[in-house]
Amino acid sequence: MRLRKSIRFICIITFFLALLGIPFSYLSLETTALVTVLSSTLWFLEYFLFERNTIPKVSNFALDLEVVRNLATSKEDQFPTHLNSLIIAEGEIPDWIVVAGGAPQNFQISFTSFQVVYRDKTIIIECPFNKVLYDKFCRFKLLGIKGKAFYERNFDIMQKALLEADSILVTHEHWDHLGGIAQSPHINELMRKTVLTSEQKSGHTIKMANFPKEVLDKYIPLEYESYHILSPGLVLIKAPGHSCGSQLIYLQLSNGEEFLFIGDIAWNLINIQRLKNHSRIGMLLRYENGRNLGHQLRWLFDNIWRNPKEKIHIVTSHDLKHLEYYHHIGLIGDQFHKM
Ligand SMILES: [Zn+2]
Ligand SMILES: [Zn+2]
Repeated sequence: MRLRKSIRFICIITFFLALLGIPFSYLSLETTALVTVLSSTLWFLEYFLFERNTIPKVSNFALDLEVVRNLATSKEDQFPTHLNSLIIAEGEIPDWIVVAGGAPQNFQISFTSFQVVYRDKTIIIECPFNKVLYDKFCRFKLLGIKGKAFYERNFDIMQKALLEADSILVTHEHWDHLGGIAQSPHINELMRKTVLTSEQKSGHTIKMANFPKEVLDKYIPLEYESYHILSPGLVLIKAPGHSCGSQLIYLQLSNGEEFLFIGDIAWNLINIQRLKNHSRIGMLLRYENGRNLGHQLRWLFDNIWRNPKEKIHIVTSHDLKHLEYYHHIGLIGDQFHKM
């Protein structure tokens, strides 16, 4: 934040000093022209990469919650009774990656696995990476990424829960969402119940999770158009943008509480609350489709955040404070159930 502001300040000062250099002949015309072009280019780049916010006025993201709700309730079976979470690791990421225009401070993030509990089965959503991949993630120190803690015990609990689960889902194919499957000692057993879409299987960023080649080669992915009901109360919704295989996951519990897992469309709730897209530099680093993200953020803002009639709970993958709030009000459990 401070570095970015300093760059902008130096650019502006240099730009105007170079202009003033012409009437007072402090600089040659060539030097003045060169300095003016360089400083204005740097100024423009700083604006384009860090400041520019691409949020449309009207969203074209085609998500019809009523259709999703009808699908979720179309199977005559038991609905899930609980939603639990388990924090596998924590860290910190810089404000300028998360939000165009930055924020007053960096963001504390969690890498979390979720457990959907039915009377007779469980479904796991998100399987964060193991310690080896987590340490690799923490090595991007130059970008301002900081590691904080990796909870080995919770990773082991997640592995056990994966073995016991009926199905395993991820919002998208990034290593911090499926590395726990790729690096599992039980990978072959887990892949039999893991539901990856064809876009997730073939997405180029899945390689960072280090799946054994032969495991992915023989894996038959799920194909669906816009919506797919996986289990009573649980519907998958296509939402490419953060990655080509990104999807939302809608969940309805038997007590009527509804959740929408949005993956990394918003790294932090601030993206939705303040209608701020990820920075363009962040999009470039993660190969994101910023246009799609802008439409999805606009949709979440208009239809959920600013809609007093809508009671569905947004669940991001990494917003630690928001997850702790859900723990605090008892909406999401902070441990996994043992089956
Ligand atoms: Zn991601
Ligand atoms: Zn993520």
